[in-house]
Amino acid sequence: MNSSPNFSKKLLFWYKKTARTLPWRETNDPYLIWISEIMLQQTTVKAVIPYFKNWLNKYPTIKILARAKTDEILKIWQGLGYYQRAKNILKTAKVVSTRYHGQLPMNYQQLLHLPGIGPYTAGAILSIAFDKPLPIIDANIRRVILRFINKKLKTKTNSDKIIYQFLKQHMPKKNCSHFNQSLMELGALICVSRNPLCLQCPLIKECLSFKNGTQEIIIRPTKKTITTLHVAIAVIRYQKKFYLQKRASTGILADLWEFPGGKIEKGESPLQAVKREVLEELDLALHKIKYLTKIIHFYTRYRVVLYVFICDIKNMIETNERLKLLSSRDLKNYPMPSGTAKIVSLLKK
Ligand code: SF4
Repeated sequence: MNSSPNFSKKLLFWYKKTARTLPWRETNDPYLIWISEIMLQQTTVKAVIPYFKNWLNKYPTIKILARAKTDEILKIWQGLGYYQRAKNILKTAKVVSTRYHGQLPMNYQQLLHLPGIGPYTAGAILSIAFDKPLPIIDANIRRVILRFINKKLKTKTNSDKIIYQFLKQHMPKKNCSHFNQSLMELGALICVSRNPLCLQCPLIKECLSFKNGTQEIIIRPTKKTITTLHVAIAVIRYQKKFYLQKRASTGILADLWEFPGGKIEKGESPLQAVKREVLEELDLALHKIKYLTKIIHFYTRYRVVLYVFICDIKNMIETNERLKLLSSRDLKNYPMPSGTAKIVSLLKK
């Protein structure tokens, strides 16, 4: 394996000079490191910054967070996607609040037992907050090391064993926090998946991929397949208020609130679909329904086309825990998928 005696020195020097100032880098509070690491999973730094600041304002400590309701944290999370992350944060906050007096444990195994915390997050918390010499591997770090040692990714598990050994061997005695963060930063800014900026890289002299010109063949990110979903939506209005219902507690966008409706079946028109869905879901036959608009929204793996209809009803439908009748102002307090939020923004106050 390619061993470089100056690997960590070069990285640390580069990191000190060029690291971006990010809100979670101004602290070594394990709670904030944990929240930032979870938010950053599958999400860009730019998108995370406002969410992180907002979260911090609302929930400055784990004990305060532990008292929050699921709907509240989903609302703060709205737009970040992968909502299970937010629910796991709340579950973990409750456990930490009761079992560990509101302080995340400094022990790797104990961290791994908490909901939503896997080896990467546990390692990130312990290395960044407590400077523990724990290697961590995310997509950015994997890419940097595989290129540096010029190894093609066979299976993730096999590659990660090699990468882990490499990182362990090169982990500095102190500044482990900056060592791990420098690798993340290098992968995010310089050793990017397409067209890495090798001439700006502190590792260029010893990088075997650069030497062999194999930077591009080492990493072949798999193309995401985007599925298009056509969905018919009914904005049902009763005396200037709107019906909003809660999605099932499992599956995609679980527990978020949305207008009644659903997938358009093969051979169905949007109008037929919206009538069928509302009849099935609310036992309500819609008359005098009007087409309102079409909204297209992109989620990570889906392109959702929403055909939105509006309908005034004369008799009130009985509400319950999962079906609410809300003013347009109150609608905004409920956590909802981004497509639904776009519809809400169109409704008059
Ligand atoms: S020299 Fe290029 S390929 Fe090698 S680690 Fe640096 S950016 Fe990546």
